[in-house]
Amino acid sequence: FDTVSILEVPFIKTTNQAFVAQLEQEILAHQNRFVVTANPEILMYAREHPEYQQVLRQADYITPDGIGVIQGAQILGTPLPERITGYDTLQELLKWGAQQHQRVFLLGAKPTVLKQVVANLKSSVPDLVIVGALDGYYDDEAAVVDQIVAANPDMIFIATGFPKQEFFIAKYRHRVDGLWMGVGGSFDVLAG
Ligand code: UDP
Repeated sequence: FDTVSILEVPFIKTTNQAFVAQLEQEILAHQNRFVVTANPEILMYAREHPEYQQVLRQADYITPDGIGVIQGAQILGTPLPERITGYDTLQELLKWGAQQHQRVFLLGAKPTVLKQVVANLKSSVPDLVIVGALDGYYDDEAAVVDQIVAANPDMIFIATGFPKQEFFIAKYRHRVDGLWMGVGGSFDVLAG
């Protein structure tokens, strides 16, 4: 995709539909991918934290999550077509993943929230193959990573909030060739 840079962060210039279609092809091909959905808060944080900026540079796709990014692009005279949120992308990929029997790993949120997410998905997307679900309040990071690797997922959704989720993905993505995506507070929404 073409990109539009805002505060030195390159955002993909595409639609939700084209983006999800691209990810689907790459997931089927077992490509290693790191997606960041960035809002203005993340941009500000990156400006003040070079180590986070460094992590953003490793992302394959940074999407404009948040109306502030869309407005910023507009003001700079380099408009972006539409918001691409973590939540919407997650929903689309879960629906598609169920049809395609793709293996999904969920990491993040409080234990009770995560339980509810799994229960809700079992009823709303019954064909979804959830190969692992761990809450985001772990002590033993290495054990979490080992469980992800052992589960052999095609898609790993991490909802531990920024910047934690992006640091985690940058550090461990090489352990599984698949989609790694930070989805912030999405599990809280999925829990209803
Ligand atoms: N969270 C977590 N582990 C932590 C801190 C937070 O799993 O150590 C979860 C928290 O329960 C919530 C999500 O991460 O579900 C953070 O949501 P928030 O909306 O704050 O994230 P953002 O969208 O700002 O990245």
